[in-house]
Amino acid sequence: MSRSASAALLALALVSGCQESPSVPGSLTASQPVPDTPYAVVLGTAQDGGLPQLGCRKDCCEPARTDPERRRLVSSVLVVDPVEGRRWLLDATPDLPEQVERARPYEDPRERAASSGRPPLFDAILLTHAHMGHCLGLLHLGREAYGAEGQRVVCTPRMARLLREEAPWSLLIEAGHVELVEVEPGASLQLSPRVRAEALPVPHRAEFSDTVGWRITTPEGSLLHLPDIDKWDRWELDLREVVRSVDVAPLDATFYGGDELPGRDIREVPHPFVVETLETTASWTPEERARIQLIHLNHTNPLHQADSEAAARVRAAGIQLAPEGGVVPLRARSQ
Ligand SMILES: [Zn+2]
Ligand SMILES: [Zn+2]
Ligand SMILES: [Zn+2]
Repeated sequence: MSRSASAALLALALVSGCQESPSVPGSLTASQPVPDTPYAVVLGTAQDGGLPQLGCRKDCCEPARTDPERRRLVSSVLVVDPVEGRRWLLDATPDLPEQVERARPYEDPRERAASSGRPPLFDAILLTHAHMGHCLGLLHLGREAYGAEGQRVVCTPRMARLLREEAPWSLLIEAGHVELVEVEPGASLQLSPRVRAEALPVPHRAEFSDTVGWRITTPEGSLLHLPDIDKWDRWELDLREVVRSVDVAPLDATFYGGDELPGRDIREVPHPFVVETLETTASWTPEERARIQLIHLNHTNPLHQADSEAAARVRAAGIQLAPEGGVVPLRARSQ
């Protein structure tokens, strides 16, 4: 059966609206309705070091060592188009093996049936930049672990050069585990007949690579994945305009405020604090603020505790905390 014919069958199967997904291994949420239009699955919400973070013996991390429900994987988002039966992974984190399992219930049945050997795990993996929380997982695609056959990885030319020229990444390319697809910052790529990805250049510490945020557009809805950025006012793009251009926007919420970094000048911390994001968005409409989903939380961030004052303040502002393990529909724009 052709891919488009089976896609039509799948669409028919889902046409009655939502169907229950199987329970997600390691997820904090039980079975959730899966839309018949494109949606995102939040595979992780923590900053690069995860929660608990290595070596932290404080109250932010100790409870997560004994209670798995409090663990948080490193920020990553799965985008699923059930119409085409395709899935794309945004960033390859150190938690990739567990996130592949979390993404498995959202695999297209035809994909499962066709699997033999070590086929690509996703239609493509899109990378934002070279910091460990965003690319380390690629090493699991090599011969010591999965040994992928031609996993497509989409990134900027500068990031691609790093992967091609520096060990151990270069081995992934030489052995054909990874096939690089380059997109210039500011340019876009048709990921499939229905889905487009645009690389938005982002200011962020650039020791090894440049950084982009990915704007994913489908006919029914869109998403901006922006886990790491310097302060909002250092961005050449206007945050409000960009958020208005999408339906769902997972944004950098690494630190809630300056208290998490005693002894550091908060103006020099290269992330927008959540308190600054609240200020920046205070004049926006509630509908615009509702598109934001905060991700990439440092282990010290009080937003990891749902009952914290900080979380209450964010909720009162009508901004969402990205639900780890949760399904977020990319709804049609209301304007
Ligand atoms: Zn990061
Ligand atoms: Zn901690
Ligand atoms: Zn980074």
